[in-house]
Amino acid sequence: MDVLSYTYNMPNANAADSVLRQNFLRQLERLWPAIKGSLAEVRKPCIRPNCAACARGDKHPAFILSFTDKGRRRCMYVPAELAPQLKQARRNGKALEALLYELGPELLRHYRRQRDSSPQD
Ligand SMILES: [Zn+2]
Repeated sequence: MDVLSYTYNMPNANAADSVLRQNFLRQLERLWPAIKGSLAEVRKPCIRPNCAACARGDKHPAFILSFTDKGRRRCMYVPAELAPQLKQARRNGKALEALLYELGPELLRHYRRQRDSSPQD
């Protein structure tokens, strides 16, 4: 088989693209919910009078979500019971970011192959 016929017999040029796309969408589905930001544990006093925890100086655990909104650093209070969900979303966000980094070279390799296998006139 010569080079040209090999080129023309290659599977549809979009096949590899669609495999990459399907893998990406499957990962995306698996990584929901995903966020970026940092989650810091803080201890806050409450407003109850004569609170034993506050009197001991232990106060109450809470979390602060820090994120960037249009370039500005912002914070939101996170009730302790919602922290596990946000922590998971943060882990997912990091995995998604890693996935995007991996996709750069993969896509570039794919586009190069596509370019090199397209018929030249
Ligand atoms: Zn208290």
